[in-house]
Amino acid sequence: MKRRALSGHKYIFVVGGVMSGVGKGIATASIGKLLTARGISVNLVKIDPYLNVDAGTMNPIEHGEVFVLDSGLETDQDMGNYERFLGRDLGPDDYMTSGMVYASVIARERNLGYGGKCVETIPHVRDEVIERLRRAADVSNSDISVVEIGGTVGDFQNALYMDAARVIHLLSPDDVLFVMVSYLPVPGTLGEMKTKPTQNAVRLLNSYGVQPDVIIARAAHPLDRKRKEKLAISCNVRPDMIISAPDVESIYDVSLNFERDKLSSILLESLGYEEKPQADLSIWKEFAEKARNGGKQVKIGIVGKYFDTGDFVLSDAYISVIEAIKFSAYQNDAKAEIHWLNAKHYEANPESVSELGDYDGILVPGGFGETGIEGKIAAIKFARENKIPYFGLCYGMQLMTVEYARNVANLKDAHTTEINPKTPHPVIMILPEQVEKLEKKDYGGSMRLGAYPCDLVEGTIAREVYEKESISERHRHRYEVNPEYIERLTKAGMVFSGVSPDRRLMEIAELPKKEHPFMLGTQFHPEMKARPLSPHPLFSTFVKAALGHKSKV
Ligand code: GLN
Repeated sequence: MKRRALSGHKYIFVVGGVMSGVGKGIATASIGKLLTARGISVNLVKIDPYLNVDAGTMNPIEHGEVFVLDSGLETDQDMGNYERFLGRDLGPDDYMTSGMVYASVIARERNLGYGGKCVETIPHVRDEVIERLRRAADVSNSDISVVEIGGTVGDFQNALYMDAARVIHLLSPDDVLFVMVSYLPVPGTLGEMKTKPTQNAVRLLNSYGVQPDVIIARAAHPLDRKRKEKLAISCNVRPDMIISAPDVESIYDVSLNFERDKLSSILLESLGYEEKPQADLSIWKEFAEKARNGGKQVKIGIVGKYFDTGDFVLSDAYISVIEAIKFSAYQNDAKAEIHWLNAKHYEANPESVSELGDYDGILVPGGFGETGIEGKIAAIKFARENKIPYFGLCYGMQLMTVEYARNVANLKDAHTTEINPKTPHPVIMILPEQVEKLEKKDYGGSMRLGAYPCDLVEGTIAREVYEKESISERHRHRYEVNPEYIERLTKAGMVFSGVSPDRRLMEIAELPKKEHPFMLGTQFHPEMKARPLSPHPLFSTFVKAALGHKSKV
């Protein structure tokens, strides 16, 4: 393998100072976006310092959405932001966790791969990190790797990655930059922006042998000159390399704000690039403007189950779904008003489902388990009977099938075997290979994961909307439509408009337009391929139908 750190490949390491949750992921994605817009080929890497081998076993309530790549790797939601900002797919080499890194070091040790040496965190695990970063750069053939080191400087568990970055810098100092995303609080009692926590964070970073080149100063307000100068002198960073990053209404404004302080030119000049053409961000600007202002409202109800879980942020668990709806709303010159509707409430009070009559569109997203299930099915029934546009994602498609089986195909007590293994009509069932995995408690990375091809059936909504015969979409599930019920469901009027190339698996279910303005469910997760500048056609059709419904009522 080429030693890229020594052969002109560039790295920008993004680290966090002071505290987490201030937008390091969005800053990384925005840097990637800006450099790409200036004609530089970039790969973005997320490092998660926890010991999970991937993000798949983590509870979305605590950790946010599990974002699946084409390859099937289950990753952190930041990877979704990266793909959306870059407008392209990322590969499995662009993500690493400590669990992944240690697993390969330990496997190598078991195979005598270290020739009898004592295997240690430094150098062996650190070198594995460096090797992985090189591989990511090689595979993507990029000019610059922008690498986000998860956590905050001073965390015990990310020190390893700080050291890997230090060594890469040591090997090739002109090719490596450090960007620290820090936070400047404005304590209520003082009403003044304080730089001290950032000064201390820089000192802590210095103790690793790392000096930040650029500081992105996150704060409620823009940074004034006085504070910029203070930060510059105390943190040993040139004043023009301190970027003001005040709170913004929309994350899509962040890159535009960075450019106001000329961030991309600063990065490129510091990495030794000759003058590069300025970025043409006009299309992005137009999009960001719509994200801020939108147009006519379209009221979408998401029927889910995670509502009484303390300090959990719903928007994180469904971030790709929310963004996908928003992109399609902007495309239709509308602004999505998204409401969270509690499926458990509908389960306990079935008559309250009639409140759904106030919505322009109803969506049931992916999910697992029993909670609120009958509430979701009741919501789907209401949407079908009242001709309110409905979009079901994965579980939402499976439950749409269950509802249709029970109430239209007369298959009494039909269900998914995930909830009722003894149902007389298992219209959704688990595949035999998945049963084996569950019996062995082989939960991690063992679902049907990642991109699979799907053929679209002529004369259907799906075929018309995609304008293609065959598509590829991302999956994350264990259960499928039971092939033994396809004929009965089809006879009752359900159309399976997307099928796997071998015809075994049903990928899209829909009702014909003459029956319902839009009632469609996908076994896959289309939200993971929706991008700001290329919204997903199924989401766009759903939003359009919702706008049509709105104008009728
Ligand atoms: N629980 C369902 C399954 O495993 C759906 C999963 C999902 O919605 N992602 O098949």
